[in-house]
Amino acid sequence: MAKFVCRDYGFDCDFIVEDEDIAKVIVAYSKHSLDEHGIEYSKEALMQFILRKG
Ligand SMILES: [Zn+2]
Repeated sequence: MAKFVCRDYGFDCDFIVEDEDIAKVIVAYSKHSLDEHGIEYSKEALMQFILRKG
């Protein structure tokens, strides 16, 4: 299960995305980050964030 917690990355934000499919988590967080925080992460960067969390 891949999970991305926005708060873990320093945002005062309750957004959490969780899915068995890492690709879906990356797409969902990428959209959220850009829409809500105006920050565009590359898919590679997000993949690294998720993998580092284990
Ligand atoms: Zn957020």
